[in-house]
Amino acid sequence: MKHPSALLLLTMVALGISTQNVLAQEVNVYSYRKPQLIKPMFEAFTAKTGVKVNAVFAQKGMLERLKSEGRNSPADLVFTTDIGRLSDFKNAALTQSVQSDIINAQVPDNLRDPDNHWFGLTSRARIIVAAKDRVADGEITTYEDLADPEWNGRVCTRSGKHAYNVALISMMMAVHGDEKAETWLNGVKSNLARKPEGNDRGQVKAIKEGVCDLAVINHYYMFQMISDKEQKPWADAVRVIFPNQQDRGTHMNISGMAMARYAPNPDNARMLMEFLASDQAQGMYAEVNGEYPVKQSIVLTGYLQSLGAFKRDNLALDKVATNRAEASKMVDRVAYNE
Ligand code: FE
Repeated sequence: MKHPSALLLLTMVALGISTQNVLAQEVNVYSYRKPQLIKPMFEAFTAKTGVKVNAVFAQKGMLERLKSEGRNSPADLVFTTDIGRLSDFKNAALTQSVQSDIINAQVPDNLRDPDNHWFGLTSRARIIVAAKDRVADGEITTYEDLADPEWNGRVCTRSGKHAYNVALISMMMAVHGDEKAETWLNGVKSNLARKPEGNDRGQVKAIKEGVCDLAVINHYYMFQMISDKEQKPWADAVRVIFPNQQDRGTHMNISGMAMARYAPNPDNARMLMEFLASDQAQGMYAEVNGEYPVKQSIVLTGYLQSLGAFKRDNLALDKVATNRAEASKMVDRVAYNE
C-alpha cells in the first residue's frame, strides 16, 4: 500500500488512530522561506493530520536541485517568495497543476496561476515610506509621484534588479504600457539620492540618517524593525503610505507554494496545501510573519491591524510575471543602478 487516500487518513484521524504508527505518513517540502516563518504552520498541520512534514530550507539553488534530481526528487512541495521565483519553477517544468476547490475558494484568482501550478499564501504590500519630519502627510500618494521632480535627490531604493522592484516595474508596464513605464522609471532614477544599494530596511535606515526622504519597501519590514532594538528608531522615523488608494490600489506581491512535478506523496502534499490556505493557517501567517493573508476577510491583529485597511491592487500576478524579462531590460536601459 503506497498512500492512503486523504479521506481514509482523515477518517483515521477522526477515529483517533495514530497514523504515524500505522504508516509513515509524510510530506517533503523544499523551502526558500526561513524555518521560523513556516514551522509553526507545519506543526499545526501535523497535530491535525498526523502527517509529518520534512522540510529542507535553502537560500538558493533549489531550482537547480529539483532539476538535477528529476524524477527521483523527494520533493512534494516548493515554498518561495515572489511571483518571479514561483513562475520560474513553473517555466522550468518543475511543478504540476493542482485542482482543489478548497484552495480555489480561499486564494483569490489574481494570486494564483491560471493553470493552478502556483498559489499565493501570503501577500506583501510594496509601500512608500516617508520621513515623518520632512514629508507632509498627503504630499506623496502614488508610485507615479516618485518620478515627480519635486523629489529630486530625495528617493532611496534597493537595486532595480531585485525581484521586488522588477515586479513593481512589471506592474507599471501592465498599467501604463512600456513607454510610459520607462519614462516613469527614468524619472525615479533621476530622483535617487544615491546609487541603489542595500536591502529594503537599509533604505529606511538611510531616511533616518537624512540621506533621503522617501523609500520603497515591503510592508513586513516595518513589522520586523519595530521589534528590533537597533532598527526600531529607523522605523519610528518614517510614515507608512499605501500608494494609489484613490485608483487601482497598492501593488501586492506574494509568497506561495507549488506541487513538485514528481511529488512522491501527492495526496499528503495537497492536504498540506489545503491546510495552509485555510483560515487557521492564514491567520497564523499574519501573526507570525506580519504578512497579509491572501484571503482578505481574515481578521488582523497587532501591527497589521494598526496599519489599517487599505485598497489592494488586484492585477493578476501572472501578468506581472510575464513582464519581468522586459522590466529587467528596462532597468538596464535607464541605467537605474549606475
Ligand atoms: Fe523580503
